Parts: sequence; structure tokens; C-alpha cells
Amino acid sequence: HSQRRILHASGDATGAEIQRVLTMRVREDERIKVLENHYVVDLLVRENTCYGVLAYDRENEEYRVFRGKVTVLATGGLGRIFEHNTNPEIATGDGIAIAFRAGAEVMDMEFIQFHPTVLNLPGAPRFLISEAVRGEGAYLRNIQGQRFMQRYHDLAELAPRDIVVRAILKEMAGTGSNKVFLDLTHLDPDLIKLRFPNIMKTCAEYQLDITVDPIPIAPAAHYMMGGVKINLVGETSIKGLYACGEVSCPGVHGANRLASNSLLDGLVFGGRIVEETKHFLQDYQPRHLEFACDWLLKPAKTDYADLRRKLVVMMGEKVGPVRSSEGMREALMFFDQWSYLRRHGVDNAEQMELKNMLQVGELVAEAALARRESRGGHYRVDCPDAYQRWQKHIIFRR
Ligand SMILES: Cc1cc2nc3c(=O)[nH]c(=O)nc-3n(C[C@H](O)[C@H](O)[C@H](O)COP(=O)(O)OP(=O)(O)OC[C@H]3O[C@@H](n4cnc5c(N)ncnc54)[C@H](O)[C@@H]3O)c2cc1C
Repeated sequence: HSQRRILHASGDATGAEIQRVLTMRVREDERIKVLENHYVVDLLVRENTCYGVLAYDRENEEYRVFRGKVTVLATGGLGRIFEHNTNPEIATGDGIAIAFRAGAEVMDMEFIQFHPTVLNLPGAPRFLISEAVRGEGAYLRNIQGQRFMQRYHDLAELAPRDIVVRAILKEMAGTGSNKVFLDLTHLDPDLIKLRFPNIMKTCAEYQLDITVDPIPIAPAAHYMMGGVKINLVGETSIKGLYACGEVSCPGVHGANRLASNSLLDGLVFGGRIVEETKHFLQDYQPRHLEFACDWLLKPAKTDYADLRRKLVVMMGEKVGPVRSSEGMREALMFFDQWSYLRRHGVDNAEQMELKNMLQVGELVAEAALARRESRGGHYRVDCPDAYQRWQKHIIFRR
């Protein structure tokens, strides 16, 4: 960034503060009915128009149909398809898979952002160490204690995320280690305490005092630039279906989102969707349609937990921050091998989630193989440069 432009709340707990206020406002508004533990399985779509969703009520273990004049997908990202990721458990790409199955266009699936500095301690969660730490002057050092980023980019530690990620991976490979260090020990301890209380507290739980100990870190999948294609008012290619937040792809982040810009996905497009649907509802013609659901088919005899482990490891190795044609072809063979699962139903929400993860994983691998260049979050060792002829989007539709 050339300007300081990021708002912070409670030091480094900005997201928690946003979530607290939003949750409070939703609870206060009597017009909003919140149904917890309802897992959206599929969209009810006929003739390219969306009429609501089919959901699975996890508590009562039953399917429920929700009809709606307008449906807004806001199911978040897909980081969980990678073994190493910063994302919450729910980030399994459900919304993208659901929309794709229903016939919506999805775009830019090859562009996944990996975050360079994620805590890498045995037994500790993949806790994200904010960019702001490097913004305040922290250094990256390899396990031999050497600063290395000046060798890779003029901006050193403040280079774009994808460059820092690849530099770290190179240093890790060069030193035969699974980590490098983020070093704040030269910074004023009072500043560290003031600016990063949450990072300090979390690291302390694992016996790390960040004012004196360098933090072991490694890159991890963080943010999905691609997703369900929307226009500038949040409409998808299916009538009555809107999307906002990380599930959506308005294209505003290009191939590589700038740090702290993702909240506009929800804030800007959420607001625009509300305005747009007012027009949509003026001409709304009600229809009552029957829907059949293939999720009720017989489940396959598959060890879903084992398949999930295999999938996330494979994605990191073959379709991670450094990709090759060979690796991506192997990934596609993996998906081909499991494609028969599409013809089967599932027993529970975890299996539904895995089906969605397989779907979005395949879209990521396909898009990444198709884009024969490197750009933003997509890097191929066999095509390391960007080309003007590739200044375009890859869009999939079923
Ligand atoms: C550690 C971390 C730090 C970040 N820091 C920043 C930052 O500093 N600045 C910034 O701009 N961005 C940041 N981001 C990115 C940003 O937080 C996310 O892009 C954003 O929160 C996504 O919001 P969302 O509303 O789209 O999805 P989420 O907040 O993920 O919400 C999705 C919701 O959909 C529900 N859901 C999912 N699937 C289903 C289903 N099948 N049925 C029913 N419900 C479902 C989930 O339960 C969840 O409630 C960060 C992300 C992470 C992981």
C-alpha cells in the first residue's frame, strides 16, 4: 500500500468486532429470522430462475424447503480444500458448488491467495499473523537467521503476498525446513503490546513471547478471488439469485486481492443487492413449482473422512501456491477417479460438504491448468510470465 488506509478495532481484533456488531444488529431486527444449524444443500432452480433453497436441518435430521422470491448466497470461501489454510471450518466452497450445480456461471477459480505468514507450530492452529506486523517493520528470516526478502523484491517484506509466499517456500526448500521466522524482536515491546495484543496472547498460549522469540511461520491458503460470477449489483447469471462476500466474484480484486480489501465483498455488494432487489420485486410473478432432489439418492460406500484428508493434501501439493502442468493433470486424474460420487447421495452434512469440496477443487484445478501463464495468485513453474493475451477471465458453466 502507498497510503495507510486500514481501519482497526480493538488492536488486532477487527474481524471479531465487526462480527460482534453485525450479530447484535441482526438479533435486534425482528424482521430477520435466524435458523442455526441449517445446511443449504441445493438451490431450487427452474428455467434459469431461482425459487429458494433445499436445506438440511442438522438438529432434527430432516430436509426442509425454503421458497424465496430472492435468494442471496453468502457462504464464504473455500480455503478448507487445502490442508494448510487460515479459514474457518465452514469455508468449504459450498456456495460455489451449489451455484455451479444449479447452472450459474463461476469465474476466476484459479486465483487463490495464499497468506505468507501463518503460525506454524506443532499442535497450534494455523493462526494468521497479520500483514500489519510486517507493516510495522517485522523481518522475515530463514532458519539460519538470515533476512532474505531483499533478494526477492525491492519492497522486501512488504512485497505482494504471492511474491513473499514463493520466496518463503524457496527458503524453506533451500534450508530443508517446513518454516521460516517472522522476527519482531527489534521492535519496541510497548508498540508490539499496543498494536498486536491478540497475536501476542495467542502466541503466548504456545510459550512464545513475540517481543523476544521469532515466530515460526509458513504460507497457507487464505482467500478466494474467484467464485460465483456477479455483476456490479450482485446479480448472478441465474434470475433471482444474488451473491456477495467471498463466495462471489465481482472481479474487483483482479487476480490478487490487496490486503484488507475483502470486506468490501460483503459490505458494498450486500448493500447493492438490497437496492437492486427492490426493483426485481416490483415485477415479480409468483409461481408454485415442484422440485425433485437427487441428494436423496443412495450414498456410496466410501470412507469420506479418508477421502477428505487425501483431497486437502493433494490440493496443497498439486494446485497450491506453486503449480505445474504435470501436478494439475494429476489433480484432475484424482477428481476423475472420484467423479462417480456425483451419482450418489449422502448421509449427512459432512458428506455433502465433501462433495462440494470435490466440485470446487476440480474447478480450481481445471481453471489453473487452462490458464497457461502466471498472474497474481496463480503461479506456474512451466509458464512463469504473464501474457497480454491472457488478460481475460475463465468462466465455467455446467
Ligand atoms: C484469519 C483471517 C483474517 C482475515 N483478515 C482480513 C482482514 O484483515 N481484512 C479483510 O478485508 N479481510 C480479511 N479476511 C477475509 C475476510 O474475513 C473474509 O473474506 C470474509 O469474512 C468472508 O465473509 P463472508 O460473509 O463472505 O463469509 P463468512 O464470514 O465465512 O460467512 C459464511 C457463512 O455462511 C455459512 N455457510 C457456509 N456454507 C453454508 C451452507 N452450505 N449452508 C448454510 N450456511 C452456510 C457459514 O456458516 C457462515 O456463517 C480474513 C480472513 C481470515 C480467514
